[in-house]
Amino acid sequence: MTSAVDLLHHGDAETGPGLLDLAVNVRPGPPPQWLTAAVLSACARLDSYPDPRAATAAVAARHGRADGEVLVTAGAAEAFTLVAHGLPRGHAAVVHPQFTEPEAALRAAGWPITRIPLEPGQPLNADLVPDACTLVVVGNPTNPTGTLHPREVLTALRRPGRVLLVDEAFMDAVPGEPESLAGAADLTGVLVVRSLTKTWGLAGLRIGYLLGDPGAVAACARVQPRWSVSAPALSAAVACCAPDAVAQAADHARELTAAREKLRAQLTDRGFELVTDSVGPFLLTRHPARPGLHAELRGRGVAVRRADTFPGLGPGWIRISVRDDDTTALLLDALDDTRHVRPAGTVTLVGGGPGQNGRITVDGLIALQRADVVVTDHLAPRGLLDHLPPHVTVIDAAKHPRGPATPQETINRLLVEHAGAGRRVVRLKGGDPFVFGRGYEEIEACAAAGIAVDVCPGVSSAIAGPAVAGIPVTHRGSTQGFTVVSGHLPPDHPGSTVDWSALARGGTTLVVLMGVATLGAITAKLRASGLPGDTPAAVVADAGHHDQRQLRGTLDSIAADAEAAAIQPPAITVIGAVAALRPEPR
Ligand code: SAH
Repeated sequence: MTSAVDLLHHGDAETGPGLLDLAVNVRPGPPPQWLTAAVLSACARLDSYPDPRAATAAVAARHGRADGEVLVTAGAAEAFTLVAHGLPRGHAAVVHPQFTEPEAALRAAGWPITRIPLEPGQPLNADLVPDACTLVVVGNPTNPTGTLHPREVLTALRRPGRVLLVDEAFMDAVPGEPESLAGAADLTGVLVVRSLTKTWGLAGLRIGYLLGDPGAVAACARVQPRWSVSAPALSAAVACCAPDAVAQAADHARELTAAREKLRAQLTDRGFELVTDSVGPFLLTRHPARPGLHAELRGRGVAVRRADTFPGLGPGWIRISVRDDDTTALLLDALDDTRHVRPAGTVTLVGGGPGQNGRITVDGLIALQRADVVVTDHLAPRGLLDHLPPHVTVIDAAKHPRGPATPQETINRLLVEHAGAGRRVVRLKGGDPFVFGRGYEEIEACAAAGIAVDVCPGVSSAIAGPAVAGIPVTHRGSTQGFTVVSGHLPPDHPGSTVDWSALARGGTTLVVLMGVATLGAITAKLRASGLPGDTPAAVVADAGHHDQRQLRGTLDSIAADAEAAAIQPPAITVIGAVAALRPEPR
């Protein structure tokens, strides 16, 4: 039998910007925070080579197996390649339709292949497989049909001198994992492949594993390139095998099942053909009167997986990923041709912290990495913009103190326009978006246009600016609070609403932002209001940047010191006892 050219076609080739993605069977969105934390913790130790022992033990414990029965792999895809090269080359039987990577890997390694074609939903039977086959590959549940083969049918395929390879990449999406062989008492002659990338949305990380017959596992391990599974991926494997994570996956499987059955009912009502009793996070379907459904949906903004590239499936079949109710509603709109579907756009206000790149929160970084459009400020962590995916549009809305300014109305309009066009927009600011950041004005503008806004709070330069210069804004025994004020208007300006004489008597640390040009007027006013001239004061300019500068002085001296040093914005002035603190190692 000849190989179809499309064995290498997968759902990822079907998606694209502006399309609602129902083609890829990976849970969309960022992983849960505990999992992101596990991955990022490993990123802090990237100077060490990965050590798979902890992940191997975690996987073994999760399935009640010995460590020697487990091999952690860079996704299920690597597992198929290891099988193709690790087992002695014989003759392979591949039950179709199924995921095409195993056959592609076996062909690339020179295995002769016999395809065992099944109609969608047709039960498997050991008699269909020639006795001479030394390897039998079957998916359970099968992608894309959703067929779940009973364990007994699978174990009946075992023979001396044969390896049965069961691809269970979607088994964790089946509540209770009823027909899984992963926990079977006797795995002689069996290899099970599992994936952690679907349920946990880790397709970009590559993490999965092989388990089963220790001899076959060892044969695969011998051909695995050293260190092929990265430390962040291994860390994710440990996290995903914890009992809580397994329980969360089971909850997700139940939700998916309910959503899938709802979708099945909707498709049945519309005259679609479906595989009876199919399971998993997708539905294989076709409509007798709509052979061009794949292109039709694409034209209406919805990407589904064409399924005619799976050996054994004729034209017209498509595979639809099961998603939440809102997404399914959009799919149904597109199927009924009631409206052109466009994924909803969003705006996320991200506080990037002060400095070039290092002080953004994990949430902020995730939002930034998932953006289609980034509207950035002058003081935002611009170093991070160099690491965005290539399709991201970056719009510079800098408002330099004395340079070119983008009017706030223009910024508001940009946010509304891009989100309105279905894009994920990140508004990236320095520090925290609500500390002299005009963040709330942008929220109001978006709300008026019916656009949802999320906020990722940031580390404000009001606290972090002094901190990176070694100055704590509070210190027990010195001060019981701190007051952050804007110095952009001098104290005697009619528009100023700051009661500077009250601040002079307030007894808290004073943190002045936007007060470089007005520093002389501010310090004079504070002195005139009774704050002693020898009160410690400090200025920190370009905090967190490589050219960060700091000056220490007193209320009497600091304005002249700053002028003499030609301090330019952005800078922060700290006034109070803490401004004299200089930690010295004892
Ligand atoms: N939202 C920002 C503040 C915006 S107002 C935040 O929370 O940090 C701009 C002022 O913040 C600047 O004039 C300066 O006073 C201060 N600032 C911001 N980034 C700074 C930095 N890296 N170094 C020193 N001051 C900074």
